[in-house]
Amino acid sequence: MPAFFDSHCHLQDARFDADRDAVVERAGETRMLVVGSNLPSSRRGAELTLQYKNVYAAVGVHPTETFGDADLAALKELAAEFPRVVAVGETGLDYHHEPFAAATQRRAFLAHLALARELNLPVVLHARDAAAEVLDLVAPFMQSGGRAVWHCYSAPKKQLPALTARALSLNLYLGVSAMITYEEQRALREQIKQIPDRHLLLDTDSPYLLPRPRTADRNEPANCRRIAAALAEIRGVTVADIARITTRNAEEFLGLDAPAAPSVVYPIRDALYINLTSRCNNACVFCARNQSYTVKGHNLALANEPAAAEVIAAIGDGGDYREIVFCGFGEPTMRLDELKQVARYAKALGKPTRLNTNGLADLQYGREIAAELVGLIDAVSISLNATTAAQYQALCQSSFGERAFGALQNFARACLRHGIATTLTVVEMPDLDLAAAKKIADEIGANFRVRSCVDAG
Ligand code: SF4
Ligand SMILES: [Zn+2]
Repeated sequence: MPAFFDSHCHLQDARFDADRDAVVERAGETRMLVVGSNLPSSRRGAELTLQYKNVYAAVGVHPTETFGDADLAALKELAAEFPRVVAVGETGLDYHHEPFAAATQRRAFLAHLALARELNLPVVLHARDAAAEVLDLVAPFMQSGGRAVWHCYSAPKKQLPALTARALSLNLYLGVSAMITYEEQRALREQIKQIPDRHLLLDTDSPYLLPRPRTADRNEPANCRRIAAALAEIRGVTVADIARITTRNAEEFLGLDAPAAPSVVYPIRDALYINLTSRCNNACVFCARNQSYTVKGHNLALANEPAAAEVIAAIGDGGDYREIVFCGFGEPTMRLDELKQVARYAKALGKPTRLNTNGLADLQYGREIAAELVGLIDAVSISLNATTAAQYQALCQSSFGERAFGALQNFARACLRHGIATTLTVVEMPDLDLAAAKKIADEIGANFRVRSCVDAG
């Protein structure tokens, strides 16, 4: 089982008293954040961090519990006493069970946010029938650099798109729970397809919120695997991809570990990707690099550009990967010689090769490049991204100016002439005329594909 990070469980719950060791054992390498609901459960969770190496704790008082000023001081003491208290929560608003004291809940929530600010800790948010107000109240905290997760992310179907957009604009993490395994949560699954990787966390809420079909009467952190499997299916990636993405997000959310060393080669789904450079002759406004250099949980921020031999060593025997893809977080043809050397090696291994490119290599080198790729690159995927030269330049800010748009189409024609499978792609954007873009691809004779704007990789 890959190592997951359960961003929300209540391992201190009495329902685990009889067999807590076995529950932790079953979770394997999975780390977990044990979340407090009141003072005793916060203390108990903090104590578990001493007992189990995979456990971290959040301390807080749930909105349905009574909360006083003395509690705030006690939470602060717990954070000082236990080094692996790494978050505040759960806190927020819960208007589900009548009667509720909205003003009291609001005051407690704001006190938790102030505590998190003072201790420089992230916050675990609970929102039930009150998400809009929770987002409003947490907004100033987020806008001043705070970190928070919307635990058990969900909302009624009608409100879900707007609340999600607001949460993403605040840069919240979203805790994906077993609710995505519920048959009736179609809207939630659809919405989750559209959420960028960098917001996703796994959230079992153990012992509550069992995945379906039910196989036990109590949830536990080992069920991260089942949530991850459902999420992988929704997003068209593998469980290993989800494990890597959500674990790295949890580490960033909780401020736990520095990112891993940058990857020269990195697996996504069943392909092995090659990261040759971070340089590019475009500066696209939508480039994922503008957000972060993490792609599917991989750190792609190269400190130095790798030599071809280094990449070849990293590819090794090529494993079971179905395809070798030159992509990375820059324009691979900026390093044409290395690209060709590595591609020659990949072909010698018998692997299909693909180049994801902006198609501007001819302008970069002042000669026609396609012929040089014959026998090395089986398929090219060229970003078209626009339907006119002016639109292309506005979006992609090419260092070659408006010549770029015609040049990339010529590159596509040349690739086709040389027998390379050629696809033109566009990123889905509101102002883009998809029919006109497809017409350009059709006239060239290339395949056409629309990519969602959500993520790289
Ligand atoms: S061409 Fe690709 S790598 Fe270069 S700026 Fe545009 S999206 Fe980013
Ligand atoms: Zn909880």
